[in-house]
Amino acid sequence: MTDNSFKYTDLTDKQLRELLLSDDETFAPYADAAREIVMSSLGGMCYMRGLIETHNGCVKDCLYCGIRRSNSAVARYSLSDDEIVETVVNTVGAGYGSIVLQGGEQRGEAFVGRVERLLRRIASECGNKAPAVTLSFGEQSLESYRRWRSAGAHRYLLRIESSRESLYRSIHPDNELHSHARRVEALYDLRKADFQVGTGVMIGLPGQTTDDLVADLRFMRDMDIDMCGMGPYLEHKETPLYARAGELLPANERLRLSLRMITLLRLLMPTINIAATTALQAIDPDARTTALRMGANVMMPNITPMSVKAEYKLYENKPLGENSLTASLTEGVTRAGLTPVFGGKGTSRHYLDRLALGADTPSLSAMNFEV
Ligand code: SAH
Repeated sequence: MTDNSFKYTDLTDKQLRELLLSDDETFAPYADAAREIVMSSLGGMCYMRGLIETHNGCVKDCLYCGIRRSNSAVARYSLSDDEIVETVVNTVGAGYGSIVLQGGEQRGEAFVGRVERLLRRIASECGNKAPAVTLSFGEQSLESYRRWRSAGAHRYLLRIESSRESLYRSIHPDNELHSHARRVEALYDLRKADFQVGTGVMIGLPGQTTDDLVADLRFMRDMDIDMCGMGPYLEHKETPLYARAGELLPANERLRLSLRMITLLRLLMPTINIAATTALQAIDPDARTTALRMGANVMMPNITPMSVKAEYKLYENKPLGENSLTASLTEGVTRAGLTPVFGGKGTSRHYLDRLALGADTPSLSAMNFEV
């Protein structure tokens, strides 16, 4: 890799595999290169987005997730429209230009129509300070995605969880509601609906191989995504996947691999937005800062009202203490050498370039996620 014509964006699967497995000394220059991309090409900015977990009811039964439908130990909640709007207005008042609404998957017109009205209300109540809105409400029809887009949402996060169909199947119930093909199709639908599209995976899943992680990186690149949120898989005792906890890598190894995935994705896709996710912080309080040093450029402070925050528990050790909108968080960002950016929409340069080039939806045939 000393050839002058070498470009990080051309890293092969073989090289990615070697780098995931390499010792820290071999990997260090790659982490430095990822940091350099954020510092130079992306202006050293860290986009801040306020994350509201709107409800924890879910129609899905994912084997790893604490809010899965069958977990009867969860106290289900749903914030009212008023509570959500009030939280958004306060967040915008604190200077934020970007928010994320996330919740369990719900289907049907009652939910789709409600989100649509909520988006319009946010836009009208915030007036000329209306924030960019990212949604993360699971798989929906193309028509529903289009309605939400027209009502003012800009971005959508839908993790593929694992790009390998076989691994995906092993962490989900085997039925129509949990189809890998349908999830991939939903990602295409989001592109068709003109969203900035984010996806991501869990790292350190039982049964996951290094080749699976390489396939995940390739999937994100082939999908030409605009944003990524990925992090370590974390156990939750009241889920079926907990039975396989004995197969897991130690938590610090899962963290190390997750940070490497962030670096490698940054090298492959220099202009996308990559989040320093909460799951990283669940393993090590300082891991989000480390992620920002290794290629991430987005932070999503959790601004869910304290009264319900603990009930949105996807995994154990969820950090609950960060409700201040600015101070403690900006400390971690500035320590990483980045400038926290609260105002503005924080659109990924990748998306802007994609629009300028008039790039079409990537074709399914160009994908190799089954390799
Ligand atoms: N209903 C939305 C939001 C799901 S929760 C959707 O379907 O997209 C957001 C993410 O949390 C999931 O996509 C998953 O990757 C992650 N997650 C869930 N359980 C987890 C666990 N036990 N460990 C780590 N991440 C988990």
